[in-house]
Order: sequence, then structure tokens, then C-alpha cells
Amino acid sequence: RLVPVGLLAGVTLAGAILLLARQQMALPAALKTALRRKEFFLEYQPVVDLRSGRWMGLEALVRWRRQTGEVVMPDLFIPLAEENDLIVRITRQVLDAVCRDTGSYLAAHPEFHVGINVSPADFHSRELLAGLQQRMATIQARPANLILEVTERGLLDPRVARETTRALRRHGFAVAIDDFGTGYSSLSYLESLELDYLKIDRSFIEAIGTGAPTSQVVGHIIGMARDLGLRMMAEGVESQAQADFLCRHGVQFAQGWLFGQPMPFAEILRRLAAAEDEEAVARAG
Ligand code: C2E
Ligand code: MG
Ligand code: MG
Ligand code: MG
Repeated sequence: RLVPVGLLAGVTLAGAILLLARQQMALPAALKTALRRKEFFLEYQPVVDLRSGRWMGLEALVRWRRQTGEVVMPDLFIPLAEENDLIVRITRQVLDAVCRDTGSYLAAHPEFHVGINVSPADFHSRELLAGLQQRMATIQARPANLILEVTERGLLDPRVARETTRALRRHGFAVAIDDFGTGYSSLSYLESLELDYLKIDRSFIEAIGTGAPTSQVVGHIIGMARDLGLRMMAEGVESQAQADFLCRHGVQFAQGWLFGQPMPFAEILRRLAAAEDEEAVARAG
């Protein structure tokens, strides 16, 4: 198996045992039922421009609401869906939900972005680009509104990674490498991929200001990503000190609890409207 992180297997196993114990059903079967009943839904986390404090966009994050009302987080079921060849079907429902939720807002705000997480199997299937294009035709949003987020696991094969990335970008979609720093890819390999964004993994953001060895690494990642001309997003920003450090070092975008947790799209809309009102008042005053 190519999954490099031992932890991932642990989470998968723990999640499976947990869910199996609560419901006398094999988990792949439970996921299939969830697909049929459309039990997946999205929350959205704001991504801010660190210089202006304004929202540049959102990241869509999937959750599974079971009939019991319990909400299962993606770290528990996405690895299982990947192992059981169900991920492509989940992604289909995720793309539908993103379009349904955000379509008209994106149509009215061409500069706004929504990040969508895709698994390696999605990234390597022809269905992804075809499915995206088909959906773009039904809403008024533009491909440039969407950022496809793929982890290093999805980029292991250089030839395939290059082809897929190129095809998506040729059609106007943006591509981000997610959780950067947790896998094996070198920055020079990334250069050959022509990506749009590099998302610095939360583990490096956590280390900022701690003096731990990892805290040195974040400076190096930032420096090299800048040299490669990649736009950077920091994940998991929880403190103002972290945000200040990142901004000072030229990282333009960030997401994290400091700015907002994942929330339903209706709540996102309320906050966007409130911010617009505030700006209008400021302009008038
Ligand atoms: P990710 O794409 O790296 O998403 C960021 C994760 O960090 C999210 O967890 C988010 O809630 C969490 N996070 C954001 N800010 C903070 C913070 O300040 N502190 C802390 N401690 N955590 C923060 P979530 O929603 O549980 O998602 C976990 C992972 O599941 C995602 O990591 C992504 O890899 C995967 N995932 C989520 N949605 C999808 C999806 O639709 N499709 C696929 N294939 N994978 C998904
Ligand atoms: Mg992501
Ligand atoms: Mg990430
Ligand atoms: Mg992650």
C-alpha cells in the first residue's frame, strides 16, 4: 500500500471499529446506504487574505449525518471510502452540493473561491474534469472560482500528476497541493507541476514560535514556495501571533479557527452580508 502515514491506518481502523460497534452493519455497506440516502453534507471554512482581513474564499468540508443524528467527520470515513472504491461516488455528491450551495454567490462574485478536496482516485479519473465541466455549464460560476485540493498522495506518479494538473488548469480550474510538508514531494518536483496554490500543513503552523525544529522548517517552505512563484495558504491558524508571522513572511492567505470554523453555507452568507454592510457604512461615513 502506498499510504505513507501509519497514523492514517490507525484512524481508519479505530473509525471502523467505532462505527461497526454502534451499528451492526459493515462499514462499506453503511457508506453505500449513506450515498443512497444522501446523508453527506458540506460545511465551509473561510479563507482570508492576511493583508486586508477580507475573505478570499472558502473551503468545502464534507460531513456525514447518520440517521441517528450523529455527525461523522471526514477523517473517519474518507479513508474507508477510498479503500472501498466509494470515494468517486462521494465526490460526485460533494460537487453537486458545492454547486447547489455556492453557485449563485460565485456567479455574482467572480473573484471568490471555493476549495474542493479530491482524493487520489478522483484526481486520476477522467470523470473529475468532465464532471466539473458539466456542472459549470449548469451554474453561472466560472472554473476559476474553483480550487481543486489534492494531497501529495495524489501526486505520487509524476507523469499522471502533470497530465491531470495541466488538463484542469487548461480548462481554467485552479489546483492546490494540500497538507504540504506531510508527504515526500520536493519543491522542485512541485515546480514541474505548475500548481496554483500550496497549502502549508497545520503541523507547521502549530510549530511557529515554539522553537521546535519544525518551526525552522516553515520558514524554508515559505522561502522556496515564494521562489517557485506559488501562492501560499496556511492551514490551521489559531493565534494572532501565527497570522502576524505568516503575513510578515509573505504568506497571503490563511484559514483557521482564528478567522472562523467550518459552518453551514447559510451562516457564511450571513457573515458575508454583514461584512458588506459594514464596508458600505465605512464608505458612507
Ligand atoms: P484538509 O483539507 O486539510 O482540511 C482542513 C482540516 O483542518 C479540516 O478538518 C478543518 O476543519 C480543520 N481545521 C481548520 N482550521 C483549523 C484550526 O484552526 N485548528 C484545527 N485544529 N483544525 C482546523 P475536517 O473538516 O475534519 O477535514 C479533515 C480532512 O478530511 C480534510 O483535511 C480533507 O483531507 C478531508 N476532506 C474533507 N472534506 C473532503 C471531501 O469533500 N472530499 C475528500 N476527498 N476529502 C475531504
Ligand atoms: Mg483541504
Ligand atoms: Mg489540509
Ligand atoms: Mg488534512
